Amino acid sequence: MLSAAASMGIDRLDAQLLLLHVLGRQTTDRAWLLVHDTDPLDDAVWPNYASLCARRKAGEPTAYLLGEKEFHGLGLQVDPRVLVPRPDTETLVDWALQCLEGRDAPTVIDLGTGSGAIALAIQRARRDAQVTAVDASADALAVARGNAERLGLPVRFQQADWLAGADAGYDLIVSNPPYIAREDIHLAALQHEPQGALVSGDDGLDDIRRIVDAAPAHLADGGWLLLEHGYDQSAAVRELLRERGFAESQSRDDLAGIARCSGGIWRAVK
Ligand code: GLN
Repeated sequence: MLSAAASMGIDRLDAQLLLLHVLGRQTTDRAWLLVHDTDPLDDAVWPNYASLCARRKAGEPTAYLLGEKEFHGLGLQVDPRVLVPRPDTETLVDWALQCLEGRDAPTVIDLGTGSGAIALAIQRARRDAQVTAVDASADALAVARGNAERLGLPVRFQQADWLAGADAGYDLIVSNPPYIAREDIHLAALQHEPQGALVSGDDGLDDIRRIVDAAPAHLADGGWLLLEHGYDQSAAVRELLRERGFAESQSRDDLAGIARCSGGIWRAVK
């Protein structure tokens, strides 16, 4: 059954996860598949598996087919209302947690939360933090709220356009905003995900510019702004931060060694 998926050109890990899914088993149960490698597939299950393989082949993300995605140790439910959380974004969470070290009950706002991934990962690691998560999309917020409830994490959710209406004095503003240029060829491979979570103007930087511009009015003295961005945008984002008056403008690499997030600290008294 896995060889049938392989002959369709489906990645082995994806095929294993889809098979476990139709068998009603946990996606952590790949060892079970090895032990039962030669078992015949139940006739009742085969059409479901074939249909999921066909959808995967047509480009639907495995996470949507499974309805779940693991992120920073959290099991999140996802569907086409939200971008699939990427492992690269765990870099942003780890950096955010470093920025919060030594601060008691820090206040954090996650802009464009989507599935809630970043906000929920921070809240899980820092139970004392007051984490707010905003998204312009009511659909995305419904997914994020569901994840927060299931995980028992007390993140507050608000529907808003970036920082419009947000409080002042945050210790940390964090965001994985849309950052792909309108004409970017990579968009073809992302057509199943919400375009509003991906595309940001002619150079991909429209939303990052807006956030950098608005952030100082909402940061505490010594608060951080951390942003994820495209593989070739780190110099531009660091420059935007410097121009806006942020100190210590710097970047962090993703798992592939690409500078994937940039940030700076806001000092009210210079
Ligand atoms: N990292 C995603 C991708 O390139 C894009 C996420 C985003 O635009 N924020 O697949």
